[in-house]
Amino acid sequence: MVLSVVIPCYNEEPNLDDLFTRLITVLDQLHLTYEIICVDDGSRDHTLKRLIEYHHSNPMIKVVNFSRNFGKEIALTAGIEYAKGDAVIPIDADLQDPPELIQDLILKWQDGYDVVYCKRRSRQGETWLKQKTAGAFYRIISKMTPVPIPRDTGDFRLMDRRVVEALKLLPERHRFMKGLFSWVGFKQIAIEYDRPPRSKGETKWNYWQLWNFALDGITSFSSLPLKVWSYIGLLISLLAFIYATFLILRTLILGIDVPGYASIMVVTLFLGGVQLVSLGVIGEYLSRVHDEVKRRPLYIVRDCYGFEKDTHKN
Ligand code: UDP
Ligand code: MG
Repeated sequence: MVLSVVIPCYNEEPNLDDLFTRLITVLDQLHLTYEIICVDDGSRDHTLKRLIEYHHSNPMIKVVNFSRNFGKEIALTAGIEYAKGDAVIPIDADLQDPPELIQDLILKWQDGYDVVYCKRRSRQGETWLKQKTAGAFYRIISKMTPVPIPRDTGDFRLMDRRVVEALKLLPERHRFMKGLFSWVGFKQIAIEYDRPPRSKGETKWNYWQLWNFALDGITSFSSLPLKVWSYIGLLISLLAFIYATFLILRTLILGIDVPGYASIMVVTLFLGGVQLVSLGVIGEYLSRVHDEVKRRPLYIVRDCYGFEKDTHKN
């Protein structure tokens, strides 16, 4: 049995020492072969240098170095592609995903589950606004998509090789990993834990990035925003038709009513607004279609440390 641990790292220098100490202690107790794949997502601090030093002292730590910052979802995708293990565990570098849980993950895996995901019982060290918006996002997306995306679940999970091979078959660019993990299916089970605050450093996501992340999730897994406009349009046309009938009858019975300016303005502005919103929704999907058809490589690796030369070409 080989276990691959995948760590996306972006400016995580202050966390690496604690991370590797805790992770390697846990992995050594498991008595199985392991590899730790660190994807350096274009860090601007000394993360890469430190990772290479770690690789030299422990060849089981392997490093993939991106040519620039491509974002967490893509770093994770790359790590999963490079992983050779029978089971793969993505884990955050900031110790918000306690490595000690890996033992429980392995136990469930040995019970025959293909995916063991970790559900947060609580999230500490996150602002009220982030918790509320995250909660709302999971509620909304679960109503919008037929794919069951478990709530309060991050990327920290164990995946069997079968699941990894299935994930690798999904070629899309806008990779909302939580959705993709669920979409592939397989026998899944949750274990619960309390999510500690980030150990050191700061979160790499601001609200604008989170908003775009949410949009990626929704547009990748639901076409409801695209379809709902035909129904809203239909409803508005119906109301407009009723109003028009009323206006015609009133004109026929009471004669020509000169003002009329207000109603025309209201209807025009309202319809203009509806049209702009619906155009915007189409634009969101269209921009993603545009990205998909370009078929650019997802990421570009500058160099690798610890992988055999012929296995990966980019
Ligand atoms: N990360 C990354 N690329 C990015 C942003 C983040 O590889 O562009 C990594 C980061 O180093 C960490 C993980 O993704 O290991 C989670 O990031 P963070 O802790 O900032 O997110 P949060 O926990 O606040 O959602
Ligand atoms: Mg974090």
